[in-house]
Amino acid sequence: MRRIGITTTIPVEVVYAAGCVPVDLNNAFINSDDPAALVAQAELDGYPRTACGWIKGIYSVVKSSICDAVIAVVEGDCSQTQAMVETLEATGVEIIPFAFPYGRDRDLLRLQIDKLIARLGTTWDAAFEWKHQLDRIRRKVWMLDELTWTQNAFSSFENHYYQVSCSDFNGDPAAFEASIPSPKPTTSDLRLRLGYIGVPPIFTDFYQYVETLGAKIVFNEVQRQFTMPFETNDLVEQYLLYTYPYDIFGRIEDIKREVRRRSIVGLIHYTQSFCFRQIQDLIIRRHIDLPILTIEGEAPTKLDARTRVRIESFVEMLR
Ligand code: SF4
Repeated sequence: MRRIGITTTIPVEVVYAAGCVPVDLNNAFINSDDPAALVAQAELDGYPRTACGWIKGIYSVVKSSICDAVIAVVEGDCSQTQAMVETLEATGVEIIPFAFPYGRDRDLLRLQIDKLIARLGTTWDAAFEWKHQLDRIRRKVWMLDELTWTQNAFSSFENHYYQVSCSDFNGDPAAFEASIPSPKPTTSDLRLRLGYIGVPPIFTDFYQYVETLGAKIVFNEVQRQFTMPFETNDLVEQYLLYTYPYDIFGRIEDIKREVRRRSIVGLIHYTQSFCFRQIQDLIIRRHIDLPILTIEGEAPTKLDARTRVRIESFVEMLR
C-alpha cells in the first residue's frame, strides 16, 4: 500500500479512503531510535541551526524513504513547512499541498478536501465511510482523556500518547484501537492538576518528570485537538471545529473551557525554539487568567537541568 507522510493532522479519512497508509512524520521522527541523529543529518545537508528541530527531523525522516509521497500543510500549521518540502521536492519527493484556510472559510476548506480527494483518487462517500469508522476509535480516546482527569485512570504520558497518535492512528486503525489500554483502578487524586498547551514537546521525558513532582498533566491541548473532540456528521464541519490550524483565539476559548471543566491550577506552555508560535505566548498570557510557565525546547533530548528547575519551582509555587 502507498504510504503517505503527513506534516501535521489533515483529513486523514481521505488517505485511508484512497487505500493508502498515513504516516505522521512528527511521530515517526520523535519515536525513531535516534531522533537527535535525524536532526544532525538535516544540518549536515545544510539546514540552518536556527531551523525548527521538528522541521529538521521531518526532513530527515522523509529522506530515509519512510513514505512514497508527502501531504504538506502549507497554510495553518507551520511557517517553515513550505521551505522544508521544497528541499524534499528538489530531491524528487512527491509533495501534495493542503491548506487550512485562514479565517476558517468553509467553502475554501471544502475545496481543499475536494482537491485532496481528487489527487488521491477517492470519493467523498468513501471518506465519510472512514470518518464513521475512525470516529468510533476517537470516542474511545475521548473516554481515555476523560478518565484521566475525572478518575486518574491514565498517566500524563498515556493521555498525551494516545491523543497525539490520532493524527494517523499509527497507520493501522484496528491495531491502534486494540492497543488502547483499559483504565487502571481509580486512585484518589492528590496530585496538582496541570494543563499542557502548545505543540507536543520535543523533550523525551517531560511527562514522566512532571509526575515525579507529584503533579499531573490532565489536559493536553493540541494533542486533544488531534482526536477531533466533538461529535459531527460532516467532514468539513469537523475540520472547521478543529482549533489548532486557525487563529489563536479559538484555541484560547478551548483552553479556558477545559481549564474550568478540569479544575486546572496552572498551565505549562511549551514553545519550540525558532517557532513562530512562540509569539502567541504573549496573547495567551493576556487572555488566560491562570499561572502559566512557558518553557522552550530545541532538540529531542531529556529535559535540561534549567527547565527541570523551572518546572519544579512552578509546581512548588502552585502548591
Ligand atoms: S514547532 Fe513550530 S516551527 Fe516547528 S514544526 Fe511545529 S509549528 Fe513548525
